[in-house]
Amino acid sequence: MKCDPTLSRAAPPSLAVKPRLIRHLFLPPLLLILVIALGFGAYRISEHYGIRDLSESGARQLELHARTVESEISKYTYLPSILELEDSVGQLLNSPNPELQQQVNRYLEGLNRRSLSRVIYVLDTTGRVMATSNWRDADSYQGEDLSFRAYFQDAVRGTPGRFYGIGTTTGESGYYLAHGLEEKGRIIGVAVVKVRLDTLEARWQRARLEAFVSDENGIIILSSDPARRLKSVRPLTPTIKERLARSLQYYWWPLNELVPLERQSLTEGAEELTFPANASVDQEHTQVSYLAQTRPLNDTPWHLTLLTPLEDLRREAANQGMLVAVVCALVTFLLIAWNERRKVISTRLAAREALQAANDELERKIAERTEHLRASNERLKAQIRERRQAEETLRKAQDELVQAGKLAAIGQMSTSIAHELNQPLAALRTLSGNTVRFIERGSLDIATTNLRTINDLVDRMGRITASLRAFARRGDDRGQAQLGKAVEAALQLLAGRVESSALTLHHEYTDTLLGIDQTRLEQILVNLIGNALDAMQAQPLPELWLVGGYSEDRYQLRVRDNGHGLDDQARKHLFEPFFTTKPGEQGLGLGLTLSASLAAAAGGSLSAEQPEGTGTVFVLSLPLVGAHPPGTDTPA
Ligand code: ADP
Repeated sequence: MKCDPTLSRAAPPSLAVKPRLIRHLFLPPLLLILVIALGFGAYRISEHYGIRDLSESGARQLELHARTVESEISKYTYLPSILELEDSVGQLLNSPNPELQQQVNRYLEGLNRRSLSRVIYVLDTTGRVMATSNWRDADSYQGEDLSFRAYFQDAVRGTPGRFYGIGTTTGESGYYLAHGLEEKGRIIGVAVVKVRLDTLEARWQRARLEAFVSDENGIIILSSDPARRLKSVRPLTPTIKERLARSLQYYWWPLNELVPLERQSLTEGAEELTFPANASVDQEHTQVSYLAQTRPLNDTPWHLTLLTPLEDLRREAANQGMLVAVVCALVTFLLIAWNERRKVISTRLAAREALQAANDELERKIAERTEHLRASNERLKAQIRERRQAEETLRKAQDELVQAGKLAAIGQMSTSIAHELNQPLAALRTLSGNTVRFIERGSLDIATTNLRTINDLVDRMGRITASLRAFARRGDDRGQAQLGKAVEAALQLLAGRVESSALTLHHEYTDTLLGIDQTRLEQILVNLIGNALDAMQAQPLPELWLVGGYSEDRYQLRVRDNGHGLDDQARKHLFEPFFTTKPGEQGLGLGLTLSASLAAAAGGSLSAEQPEGTGTVFVLSLPLVGAHPPGTDTPA
């Protein structure tokens, strides 16, 4: 089977491996980076939109609370100016006396109670407290000189005094609103209302709002977180610090700076401030980030700042970033899995297609081969038929040849047969004539002896003719032969020549039953022994060895003589028909050819070998009938 070269064609290993290696090495970190980047991107987007939403809601809250603060402050704006309406206040300022003072004190006390302000008091143009609502208290302002207060200085000049400060008497913080009391276009004194704004802080705390109000100096005067109170939101130079300290606005408060660890502008009017975490409140974090939005408060130099913690937003953004990263990782994983599966499927499909193509090719080739086989089978069948016919013809020809050979042998042997028969015939003629005469003479004993001799001679002649008939008869390819009997018959047939040659015979074989027709074996042996006798004609001491031995399922008879042996020419053409070296009518050149074909027809063989020394060995190998007898040797 030949595969399609395009299917097995691949890039050289070094080139095919590299991209895959690069992919395996770099793809996972790249994907990881991509997933992290997407997660981070989602985090940033979520944070951005979160901050935007937070800014929007923060702006609304800031507006709301700024208005609340403004209304809280503006609620008291009119209060100091109300004192202008009270005659006793003007009278006290113009001509102070204890009674009048007591009257104004009570008035202020009542007014203060109703307006829910902290203290209301009146100062003369020198800044001395003429009357106060807290006149009963031990730390009453009565008689105090508050001319150093900025709100007094403003109000006495005719501008409304607004001031947040810490009281020098009580040490209590408050918002001071001062108003210059006019009479006939002249300022005769100053009315001051001190308001506590703690309620705002309490409200922010209840609403869990982080906010603070910073004043014109940047000092936080109101804060939902007490820790931030009276801290500066911007750096204070030593000069400013000194000025503020001298004004006693914040009493002797240290005025530390509330400087953020980090400040970053986000959107318009909003920035991110990071403060160190309040260790007592938040032990988890070391710093806290806020979205800070600031708005100036109307009618005041103050600013309200709303702080919205960004921690929840950041946590939410981180969660979303993580979610996106996980989803991306999942999608990436699914994509990789899908891609791998697609590759496996396409590989399988390609393999299946290749297999199908190979299969088709194979089937086509099988069909082709089958066709070839069928054709060659037909050819073979025809050849077999021809062979059989040829074999048949050959066999017939062989049979004819064997027969012709036999006849030729008979012709060849006729001289010796004639000689063999003539001798007894002559003896018979003499003996019979003598016998007649002996009977006539009455010598019956001699006649009887002669008759016995005649009988023996006739027997001998009968045996000769019987052998000759047996040789000439057609045999059976699949017969059985007794080796001893065959040797005996052959020697008998050649007895005359054997005797005349004074041959020494060596019998070294087993009388075995062989798978060949008896007559055919005899014919072969007659040929072999006859040839040996011919070859030993010049030998003064002719010797013939008949040596047998077992070889597997065969028996080998080696017929060896000490004759003239075979020259190269004879060895080459030995088994060819009509090859003979014998002179004149003596040889036909058919003996060995026929013998070999008779042996082959019986499933055996005939070959010639050169023995050690002189002579020739003919090896006749024939199938055994029955099992190989145990313990028998193979031939040497
Ligand atoms: P023929 O005997 O009629 O010549 P064969 O086929 O029997 O025909 O023998 C062919 C030849 O083989 C003989 O002429 C002889 O030269 C040679 N040959 C056969 N047997 C022997 C032998 N035992 N020794 C030497 N030569 C032999």
